[in-house]
Amino acid sequence: MKTIHLFANWKMYLDFDESNILANALAAQAKKNSEQIKIAVFPSALALYPVGQVLKDVGLAVGAQNAYWVDKGGFTGEVSVNMFKEAGCEYALIGHSERRHIFNETNHEVRQKLEAALAVGLTPVICVGETAEERRADKTEEVVEIQLRSALDKLAVGADAKIFIAYEPVWAIGTGDACAPGEAERMHGKISKIVTALLPKVDCKILYGGSVRPANVADYLIGPLTDGVLIGHASAQLDSFSEIIKRAGELAKA
Ligand code: PEP
Repeated sequence: MKTIHLFANWKMYLDFDESNILANALAAQAKKNSEQIKIAVFPSALALYPVGQVLKDVGLAVGAQNAYWVDKGGFTGEVSVNMFKEAGCEYALIGHSERRHIFNETNHEVRQKLEAALAVGLTPVICVGETAEERRADKTEEVVEIQLRSALDKLAVGADAKIFIAYEPVWAIGTGDACAPGEAERMHGKISKIVTALLPKVDCKILYGGSVRPANVADYLIGPLTDGVLIGHASAQLDSFSEIIKRAGELAKA
C-alpha cells in the first residue's frame, strides 16, 4: 500500500466565499478518506488562512500557489515564504507553468523561491514540464532536465528535507488533453534519476499534473513511480474532487 498525494491547485478559480464553502464540504467528508491519502489544498492567498483553519483539524494541509523569496520589504503585491508559513502552510508550489509562461518566471527565480521555501520549512512542489512546441521539437527531456538542474544543482538541503516534483506538461494543463499515463510514468523515471543524482539523500516524491479527472486518475496512480497527482480544474469542484479522492482511496486499499 503506497501513500497517495492529492494536491489541489485552486488557482484563481474560487473567490473567498467559494473557497470556504468547498473547504467546509471537504472537511465534512474527510473522515471517509483513506488514511493512505494525503491531501493538500492550494487556495488563493486571501482564502488560505481561513481554509487552513477549517482543514487542519481534519488532517488536510494547505499550501501557497506562489511565494516571494525576500522575508519583508518594499515588494508591493508580493507575499513572502515566511508569511505563508506563518499562515499555516505546509507546502508551496514553485514554478507552476502558469507562473513561468504567463508571468515570465525564470529558472533563476524558481531557484530563489525554492531556496527560500526550504529555509523557512515549507515543502516545495517544483513544477516542471515542456510546452507543446518543445514537445513537437522532441525537446521534452532536455527542457525538463534543464529545469531540474537549475532548481536542484548544489542545493543546500537538510538531511530531513522533502521535495515534490510535479511533472506537468504545459500542453496538458487545463486543456483536457492529458498526457498518456505510460508517457508520464516514463518521464517520472527520468526525473527520479536526475533528482537522485543531484540530491541523493533527499526524500523526493513525484506527481503527475495535467487534466487529471475522476475518469483517468487511477491510470496515473497505479504507476509505481507516481506518488500522486496535482489537480487543477477538477479539484475546484466538490463532485469531481470527491470522486478523485474516492477513487484514489480504493486504489490505495487494493
Ligand atoms: C495545474 O494547474 O497544475 C493543473 C494540473 O491543472 P488542470 O488539472 O486543470 O490541468
